[in-house]
Amino acid sequence: MRLAVLKERRSNETRVAATPETVKKLIGLGLQVVVEAGAGLSASIPDADFAAAGAEVAAGPAEALQDAGIVFAVQAPEPAERSQIARGALLVCVSGALADSGLVPSLAEAGIDAAAMELLPRITRAQSMDVLSSQANLAGYRAVIEGAHAFDRGFAMMMTAAGTVPPARVFVVGAGVAGLQAIATARRLGAIVSATDVRPAAKEEIKSLGATFVGVEDAETATQTGAYAKEMTADFKQKQAALMTATVAKNDLVICTALVQGGRAPTLVTKAMVEGMRPGSVVVDLASDGGGNCEATEPGSAITTENGVKILGYRNWPGRIPVAASTLYAKNLLTFLTTFWDKEAKVPKLPPEDEIVKGVMLTRGGAIVHKNFASAA
Ligand code: NAD
Repeated sequence: MRLAVLKERRSNETRVAATPETVKKLIGLGLQVVVEAGAGLSASIPDADFAAAGAEVAAGPAEALQDAGIVFAVQAPEPAERSQIARGALLVCVSGALADSGLVPSLAEAGIDAAAMELLPRITRAQSMDVLSSQANLAGYRAVIEGAHAFDRGFAMMMTAAGTVPPARVFVVGAGVAGLQAIATARRLGAIVSATDVRPAAKEEIKSLGATFVGVEDAETATQTGAYAKEMTADFKQKQAALMTATVAKNDLVICTALVQGGRAPTLVTKAMVEGMRPGSVVVDLASDGGGNCEATEPGSAITTENGVKILGYRNWPGRIPVAASTLYAKNLLTFLTTFWDKEAKVPKLPPEDEIVKGVMLTRGGAIVHKNFASAA
């Protein structure tokens, strides 16, 4: 069976869904791997490295997709490439289906069996395939590095003969995978770090990393026991906003990471809060793909407000650290395929009743099979 690795065409996408290391392992499963020319360039992987690992390098998407039974991609291929995927082929990518209502019906119509890796259930068995975690971790790291670069004062406390440089104060909003890595990275750079979250489980995690927990704790947060935060009530939002106003004003950097899966990111840092920050302060908004946690964020851009606050609202933060992000993403996809691989027949074997399969498969055999999209049929 042939497995195609496509070059990403969406703007700002710098990652690639395979590396020479995973290509070797895929070949070891009995696959023939075809990589589209230039697929790895923005992640510093030349075609020659894929070829040296045993992949065939195809000139374009049509050649790469010809007779491919499996397609690996980072984001869902655009319609032009999608139309060249053979009926019955397995497509594994981060589909973005929750934000694109036409995608799932069109995949079903094209007869593509699509696995949406962002819908992977957050269970222990799935951890090594968890693309959201692997990418969010790197995004959290990168946010602090870019925030530190934009901050013109200094992170660690430095006592010199010429005077003392105070440590930066960093406030992390949302302590999930990205937020916890942001806390750890900011601490390693010497900042004084605090963080907030609505899930009670996050409080201990924040403290265990040496940061201070700042947050509203009430009957409503006590119900946030799942892996994902639920939308909060207006009453809670009001209490949270009062605390946020005071906290944001005291900090030099605010790193926003609070997402609600599939929905618009909650606005947690208002324009008025930004106005209360000192000139030279920095807001890094990792939630900009979901519209941003900061009201002043312009998704896709870095701006400076009238009061001199820099707001880094870039999209696709994992794509800003493409070599590491591709390495981990490619490994996640390899683990997924290896887990659901028929060693005898050398083809994918995706038992429909398996919890992971049920979680990720959007379409199969021309039908919509995912419960969240059944009404789209
Ligand atoms: P996420 O990207 O959906 O959200 C980021 C963080 O923002 C979360 O901690 C969330 O609680 C917080 N948040 C959302 N709305 C908020 C609000 N209004 N105010 C303040 N904070 C808010 O989450 P994530 O990082 O993908 O994962 C969250 C949690 O899932 C992890 O911390 C972990 O406990 C769990 N998880 C489990 C597994 C597994 O078991 N396989 C894998 C990954 C993550």
